Amino acid sequence: VRVEDKLYQNRYQVDAGKVHIKVREHDTPTAPLRALLTACPARCYELNDKGQVELTADGCIECGTCRIIGEASGDIEWNYPRGGYGISFKFG
Ligand code: SF4
Repeated sequence: VRVEDKLYQNRYQVDAGKVHIKVREHDTPTAPLRALLTACPARCYELNDKGQVELTADGCIECGTCRIIGEASGDIEWNYPRGGYGISFKFG
């Protein structure tokens, strides 16, 4: 089974207007921000057409990888979603 197929079985409750992870505004991505493009297992981080790193948190599985990579440097601000929102795992 591919990882993408397993991720598809998860359900995500979007907390509209209250994103639980924020990317610091930047012109050029720092090394930690560039690392997030490949480190996030749910592929939530992408480059936009200006070459900046953007986050789409809807598929976030709350693994904490980006927190370890980007929070200490201040590149991202990380919080768990509010109760009732975020990921629901089918097997766990
Ligand atoms: Fe991706 Fe994990 Fe960060 Fe969520 S917590 S955005 S899944 S690296």
